[in-house]
Amino acid sequence: MANHVSALDGKRVSGMGSDGEWGAVTKAPMSRELVWIEQQRFRGFGCSECGWRFNPSSAPTGTSFDEMMRNFELQRDTAFTSHVCADHSKGVR
Ligand SMILES: [Zn+2]
Repeated sequence: MANHVSALDGKRVSGMGSDGEWGAVTKAPMSRELVWIEQQRFRGFGCSECGWRFNPSSAPTGTSFDEMMRNFELQRDTAFTSHVCADHSKGVR
């Protein structure tokens, strides 16, 4: 039944807190979020706390739209999770 949860549990996502407490995300060092950004020169996902933006290195692959979306989201989430806010300070105003 709870396929999602058990799959995640098996992978042991680092920095996720303890024992699958989904409400415990506030423990994260920074309350950064993946946000949608719309600007003249950029339209896409970025970080709410710094200047990081998601630039897909390649078009998502997959045999179906669903699979492409899944691959895209995975790529996006992985990139977001692994970026360091301090490296992308909002210098540009
Ligand atoms: Zn950031």
